[in-house]
Amino acid sequence: MTDTSFGQACAERVADAVPRFDQITFVGIGLINGSLARDARRLGLAGRLVATARRRETLDQALALGLVDAATPDAADAVRGADLVVLGTPVGASGEAARAVAPFLRPDAIVTDVGSVKARVLDLVAPHLDTRRFVPGHPVAGAETSGPAAAVEHLFRDRWCILTPRGDTDPGAVARVAALWRAVGSKVETMGAAQHDKVLAAVSHLPHLLAFNAVNTAGDVEHALQGEVLKYAAGGFRDFTRIAGADPAMWRDVFLHNKPAVLELIGRYVENLSALQRAIRRNEADALFDSFTSARAIRRGEALAAGASSPGMP
Ligand code: NAP
Repeated sequence: MTDTSFGQACAERVADAVPRFDQITFVGIGLINGSLARDARRLGLAGRLVATARRRETLDQALALGLVDAATPDAADAVRGADLVVLGTPVGASGEAARAVAPFLRPDAIVTDVGSVKARVLDLVAPHLDTRRFVPGHPVAGAETSGPAAAVEHLFRDRWCILTPRGDTDPGAVARVAALWRAVGSKVETMGAAQHDKVLAAVSHLPHLLAFNAVNTAGDVEHALQGEVLKYAAGGFRDFTRIAGADPAMWRDVFLHNKPAVLELIGRYVENLSALQRAIRRNEADALFDSFTSARAIRRGEALAAGASSPGMP
């Protein structure tokens, strides 16, 4: 394991109520876990920060950026001594990540994750871990960047973090993980995994699918016209499709692992789109006007106004 000095690590110490861990181990160290590591170091939330990932390049980058004190491709080595382990791989890899660390965990270790899908992650992880000590989590914050270099401080400030504990999850473990997210500035909410997956399908997963598809469709038109199309894209297209720049592996896993909720949402979306298509074909001006008026009212309403100008859709 490569070590760097802890040095002037823990800069701003926070109030005594803030949780302090002996060692936090990050399994996967990209945008989300890297940003959590940055905040954990800034706030002095752990005595030691350790990362594991598949590629040496990822680990070297995490060390060079000062995200962690030690980094190793050996998952067993990484979790030894950790009282908190944060799984931060694409969701499809969370079962394998849990399997790799499980035999080497401290008996009192809490395991949590940051995956964008919750029910399926629980299914993948449950065969390998003591589920009483596993606290599923999803920081509803992010960006379309990835890898250790994308990690930033304050990514989670004023953002929701949703925890989806089961009936048998240790309440003490849930409280520790909730305190961690509050310490980095998040608003913590608890709900069932299935509810989480339906909510996120509507406000994050479907919009990403639309953005990917809108860009590909414009790309098709460019190809069909054998000319330049995309360069004429204005602010609206750029704003709407910003999230299509997100990591393909992460989003592949989100759709494959939140299938029922996403397919249900696509069904609703297609129905609504068909109604608009018919209204356009039939010159139903009122129907179009009413639909857009309703959308504008929801968009300008209180629920969306609060985060309207801030970036970072997960
Ligand atoms: P990321 O920047 O791409 O980092 C992923 C990390 O996992 C890297 O360290 C990568 O390193 C490792 N990894 C990738 N594939 C792996 C595999 N098959 N097995 C083991 N390790 C693997 O991703 P991220 O954006 O931080 O996302 C991490 C998790 O957070 C995902 O579950 C995602 O759903 C969730 N999330 C993302 C956002 C967002 O906006 N990006 C927001 C909220 C939650 P190596 O390639 O070297 O192994």
